[in-house]
Order: sequence, then structure tokens, then C-alpha cells
Amino acid sequence: MRKDVEILLQELKGFEEPEARLEQYMTPPSVAGTLLHFAWSNDDLDGTVLDLGCGTGVLGVGAAVYGARVVGVDVDVDALRIAQSNAARAGVETGTDWIRGDASAVPVSRVDTVVMNPPFGAQNEGADRPFLRAAEEVADVAYTVHNAGSLGFVEGFVNGEVTDAFETTMRLPRQFEFHEEDEREITVEVYRIEF
Ligand code: SAH
Repeated sequence: MRKDVEILLQELKGFEEPEARLEQYMTPPSVAGTLLHFAWSNDDLDGTVLDLGCGTGVLGVGAAVYGARVVGVDVDVDALRIAQSNAARAGVETGTDWIRGDASAVPVSRVDTVVMNPPFGAQNEGADRPFLRAAEEVADVAYTVHNAGSLGFVEGFVNGEVTDAFETTMRLPRQFEFHEEDEREITVEVYRIEF
């Protein structure tokens, strides 16, 4: 199942014109696949899932393939359009909704699980904070991707408990003008938080 999901996620479309201001990087299918497999093995994809800052929808589409009912939320309508077409491509259009909204006022009242790869705050310091607050408000559990070394901050910031953490790497393509290297590998950490 896990390999099948990753192969399917590799077929999805990325951002057409990624916006640096919004830190639009597609979550690599390998990272999305690992996160989702772990969530599934914890029975966290059985109910409703919010993909917050869904971008291309890779996390939400994958969660839907695992059987979750998914709502994806992003501020950027172009991203939502891509997410929607990715859901169709993966055959999960009926189990997913893609709606415009800001993490600081999520248009969703209650879900079981949040999956998210929020902005790391490289462009606007603290950009990940409303995402963590939103997850805390609407969900019982969240899976969230952060820069390596963010555990202390996350544990101190949320009213919840980080039950699991694992490290992985992401290759980021050179997609913004200010990038000097063709590709950069960064170490990130995925946290499971129970609220
Ligand atoms: N997981 C997604 C996107 C990660 S990039 C994917 O793999 O494609 C972070 C996303 O958060 C971007 O799509 C960006 O548009 C969105 N975003 C940034 N600030 C936001 C905010 N305040 N509220 C909602 N979405 C936001």
C-alpha cells in the first residue's frame, strides 16, 4: 500500500508558479508517503482529515487514498485548482473538498486529524504559528512537518503532547530567484501531536 501510494503521489502536479511569500514547496511524495503511512498505521486516517496549507494537495490526496474524508484549505486559489485536479487524477475527487481560507481563521469546525507542511517561517517569521494554533483548535491529532530542531519550540507552543517525532530529508528544487544552488537538501522533522 505504502509504495503504491507513493507511486501515485509522484504522478501529481506541482505548483505552476510557486510564490516565495507563501513558501510554496510541494511536499516530496516520499515524505508525504512516510507521514501518511505512519498516520494510517496509528488509525489516524479513519475519519475526517484537514490538509492545512494544502498547496498541491499531495498530503490530502494521499490521505483520501488511505480512506479519509478530506478537506484541503489554502489561501491561494491557484494552488486549490491544482489540488483539485490532482484529486481527480488520483481518483479521489468525491472524497475531497478544496476550499479557500487562511490558517488564522480556518473555515472548518471539527476534524479528526490535521496533516500539514506549513511555511517554515523563512519568509515571514512565525508563519507556522497560526497553523499550529488552528490544528489545536479543530483536531484531536496533527501530523506536521518542521525544520529540524523545532521540537522544543513546538512542544512549548502547543497545548498538546508530541507523541512521536521522526527525521527525514527533503530535496528542494531551485525554484525561487534568491536560491543559489540548483537543489538543496534540508533535514526536516515530522511530529505527531495529540491535543
Ligand atoms: N503540503 C503542500 C504545500 C506546502 S507549502 C504541498 O505539498 O503542496 C505551504 C502552503 O501553505 C502553500 O500552499 C501556501 O499557499 C500555504 N499557505 C501559506 N500561508 C498560508 C496561510 N496563512 N493560510 C493558509 N495557507 C497558507
